[in-house]
Amino acid sequence: MNNNARHSIRDIISNNEIMPGVFLMWIKAPEIADAAKPGQFIMMHCGGKTLLRRPISIHRTDGSKLAVLYAESGAGTQWLSKQKEQASIDILGPLGNGYMIKKDAKNLLLIAGGMGIAPLAFLAQSAIAESKRITLLLGAQKADTLFPDSLLLSDIKCIVTTDDGSAGIKGRTTDLLPSYLGEADQVFACGPAPMYRTMYKNNLLNNKPCQVSLEVRMACGMGVCYGCTIKTQNGLKQVCHDGPVFEFDDVLWDELVDI
Ligand SMILES: Cc1cc2nc3c(=O)[nH]c(=O)nc-3n(C[C@H](O)[C@H](O)[C@H](O)COP(=O)(O)OP(=O)(O)OC[C@H]3O[C@@H](n4cnc5c(N)ncnc54)[C@H](O)[C@@H]3O)c2cc1C
Repeated sequence: MNNNARHSIRDIISNNEIMPGVFLMWIKAPEIADAAKPGQFIMMHCGGKTLLRRPISIHRTDGSKLAVLYAESGAGTQWLSKQKEQASIDILGPLGNGYMIKKDAKNLLLIAGGMGIAPLAFLAQSAIAESKRITLLLGAQKADTLFPDSLLLSDIKCIVTTDDGSAGIKGRTTDLLPSYLGEADQVFACGPAPMYRTMYKNNLLNNKPCQVSLEVRMACGMGVCYGCTIKTQNGLKQVCHDGPVFEFDDVLWDELVDI
């Protein structure tokens, strides 16, 4: 387990539906907020119906508070969505290895597919504090599932795509990737499996280094159960312990069945 990881029962500050079925929860958690790095996650206890905690990325930090952004997808996240302000929440973190920004990288290209904005917002926050320039390719299926502009930091240059063209440019973030790759010193991505598969199959990164966060199914979240093991160029790796962030080229995409 990550040495900085803490188990705590903490107070929910707010828990609001910011777009249909997607919630932003702020939690008072000083020791986790202080130790957290972009790309790391917490394991959240989600009530009596789900035995296992659920991994959720750290979306933002602000002093002693941290935020998570989650989509209602099953019993665990439905339970989370019903929790009210001032209720207690049982969390463990920060866990995993996050994104690494190179000191000499000035221009960062972030690619967020749907809920992939969850960890990338924290990366952007941290990068802006280090005076990096951020270009974000932000994709969604349609306008009402697009992460709100008002919640993005103003220093980010954001280019929006929607599958149906109801906001921004019609198409996918991956359609725009080749146009923005040239000016990027480093690339960071988080998104659904089809987004990664498109990047892989069409060699869209053109061999430029890129770090990706993998959301494979996870049980313990602490490197104990080996349930989230994947194959990489450097052997078997546990997503919870060695990741969730990996170098894109390290992942054996053809062997990845669980995402
Ligand atoms: C490191 C990491 C960070 C994550 N961060 C976030 C986050 O910030 N916000 C967020 O909303 N979610 C995030 N997830 C995904 C979230 O943990 C899962 O969706 C979780 O299963 C939700 O729990 P649930 O009980 O609501 O749904 P479940 O009942 O567990 O699952 C609901 C549906 O999603 C499918 N599913 C669950 N997990 C996966 C998976 N890993 N890959 C493909 N399909 C899956 C199930 O088959 C089912 O159909 C993250 C996952 C990982 C590994």
